[in-house]
Amino acid sequence: MPASSYPTLFSPLAVGPVTLSNRIVMGSMHTGLEGTPDAGVRLAAFYTERARGGAALIITGGYSPNPAGRMSEHAGVLDRPEQIALHRPVVNAVHAAGGRIALQILHAGRYSRHGDLVGASDLVAPINRLKPHALTDAEVERTIDDFAACAELAQNAGYDGVEIMGSEGYLITQFTSPRTNNRSDRWGGPYGNRLRFPVEIVRRTRKRVGPGFIIVFRISALDLVKGGLTAAEIVAQARAVEQSGASILDTGIGWHEASVPTIGYMVPRAAWTFAVKRIRAAVSIPVVVTNRINTPELAESLLAEGVADLVSLARPLLADAAFGRKAFEGRADEINTCIACNQACLDFIFVGKIATCLVNPRACRETEFPAGPAAKPRRVAVVGAGAAGLACATTAAERGHRVTLFEASKEIGGQLNLAKAVPGKEFAETLRYFRAMLSKGGVDLRLGASPSPAALANAGFDEIVIATGVAPRVPDIEGVGHPMVMRYDEVLSGKRAPGRRVAVIGAGGIGFDVAEYLSAPPQGDALAHFMQDWGVDRSGAVAGGLVKPAPQGAAREVTILQRKPDPAGKTLGLTTGWALKTGLAQRGVRIIAGAQYVRIDDRGLHYLQDGKPALLEVDNVVLCTGQQSVRGLYDEIMALGTPVRIIGGAERAAELDALLAIDQGMRTALAL
Ligand code: NAP
Ligand code: SF4
Repeated sequence: MPASSYPTLFSPLAVGPVTLSNRIVMGSMHTGLEGTPDAGVRLAAFYTERARGGAALIITGGYSPNPAGRMSEHAGVLDRPEQIALHRPVVNAVHAAGGRIALQILHAGRYSRHGDLVGASDLVAPINRLKPHALTDAEVERTIDDFAACAELAQNAGYDGVEIMGSEGYLITQFTSPRTNNRSDRWGGPYGNRLRFPVEIVRRTRKRVGPGFIIVFRISALDLVKGGLTAAEIVAQARAVEQSGASILDTGIGWHEASVPTIGYMVPRAAWTFAVKRIRAAVSIPVVVTNRINTPELAESLLAEGVADLVSLARPLLADAAFGRKAFEGRADEINTCIACNQACLDFIFVGKIATCLVNPRACRETEFPAGPAAKPRRVAVVGAGAAGLACATTAAERGHRVTLFEASKEIGGQLNLAKAVPGKEFAETLRYFRAMLSKGGVDLRLGASPSPAALANAGFDEIVIATGVAPRVPDIEGVGHPMVMRYDEVLSGKRAPGRRVAVIGAGGIGFDVAEYLSAPPQGDALAHFMQDWGVDRSGAVAGGLVKPAPQGAAREVTILQRKPDPAGKTLGLTTGWALKTGLAQRGVRIIAGAQYVRIDDRGLHYLQDGKPALLEVDNVVLCTGQQSVRGLYDEIMALGTPVRIIGGAERAAELDALLAIDQGMRTALAL
């Protein structure tokens, strides 16, 4: 596909004296790299790959303008000239790669997780236990000056601009919203007073840095909290910060304390463009659209439609640093697409780990996983084309090895083929990517092939990697052979369709996914359904953009059971599990913990609850009771005395998921 397939995406944009080479902005992300001992080297490698990969403007993770505003004890602060030295190598590396880079200034306000937190008022955030000190008038003045001083330090470090973080519920939003601002001085009360804080920050920053420096202001286009702003107030804010000297308006959706998912896989692609359009219609500076935009086709269509002037890609550039370059060169099928799972980026950051990416384990580990060809090309056999086998085969081929990939079934994908059936899960994109990379790497793909141990051992391969995956575990419950009992793979593959009343045995990730698959009503207009389910107002008239949710009815009556007495769903993703559970609860999906299974018969599932007999009258029981490794081939090759490696679910079925499988597959290929 020629570059002209995305003419708007790849058109330049002048921002004052600076010309951005295309419309791709790398959105700010917390990566955790800032706190590492070799932060300068790692950040330089991370951002440089993305600048080379086609991001016209990179926005760094957030740095606080003073110690009070840092997110946590060890988060980055830029408030002293001597700190500039840490930034220069990163800025220089990005410039050498032809990119532009802006430093994000983030004051976390009442979201800070250290003892000295401050806020517009002393109201505790629902997602923080700590009470903020309400800034005095003099402290507000100093904080504004700190923003401006931080921008000047960034300018001295060589950055092309700054992004002032004014969305997601951080300090600036805490001033503009009546939800968090109960002040009665000139910084509170009427909206004009509440707007004074962002307006003064932008005005004083512009005064300090002069006309040529980019000032991006990230505005909350939709708060999604009670007591948030109306669309008219948001538009007024956009105009006010434009007049105060902002060069670009980036957009953010939802505060961190919002109880509506905004970026997880359950959010339809480009769901929030309605809120961004309102801002673009009101200002004349460039506007950035963001959230759940993960393909160049979608980015191009949004820009061409006039939703915005620039598109922000954050997680998609973790998933593939070369997103832009591949799209520009007509290689969009080679883009490793972000599937919005949050499993290795946000979920890692929330537990204090350095972010990476489920589909791209190299992300944020660029210095640890060197790219480039293998010292000595070898003949490699990989058996099994599930997540682990695919990652291993494609990485090995990319490094110049001659790879043969055997797959017993007629298609690649293994368990990913099941996961892709779950509403919102975009593993079909991952499989498209792997197909493209198998073809590009010249991998000899043998579908429907189950080579014998002897054939493999005697075929002259230098390396044999077994990735034969898992088989569903069938528990030892009386009546488990009853015709009404189905395995999860039979259900998700569409081979068998349960009736109206279903018991799902097993409350792990797959049990919940199966419950979602079975209870979700036919999607039709998925975007409209999402907004109704979560009570999002698109008219702009309602403060915060929230109305009463009107969830759709469930397609089936589903009950999930587990033996453990603990609350179910503990293994679900930190930043997506809550939304999955809320959605299921809205559809009336029941969860029973502490069940002792007794028998399955024509009447349904008999179990004991607190020692008392109970019966779940259902049409079908679906088994989601974990997996067992399929490793017979490995054992047989070992018995022949032939060296062989084993990876993925074949090696370890417990707690194995796509994240570990892809990581292990890639690491194994790098070791060949
Ligand atoms: P799992 O998380 O191990 O869950 C298995 C479930 O089956 C548990 O609830 C367990 O609970 C029950 N169970 C186990 N043995 C049983 C037996 N003999 N009889 C009755 N019940 C039994 O496995 P999974 O759900 O199959 O998931 C596999 C892997 O994929 C996991 O690592 C999972 O995290 C991952 N995954 C992740 C996602 C995601 O979105 N992040 C989605 C799907 C899968 P009790 O023992 O309490 O009954
Ligand atoms: Fe996207 Fe998942 Fe990778 Fe995060 S971990 S960047 S959500 S694919």
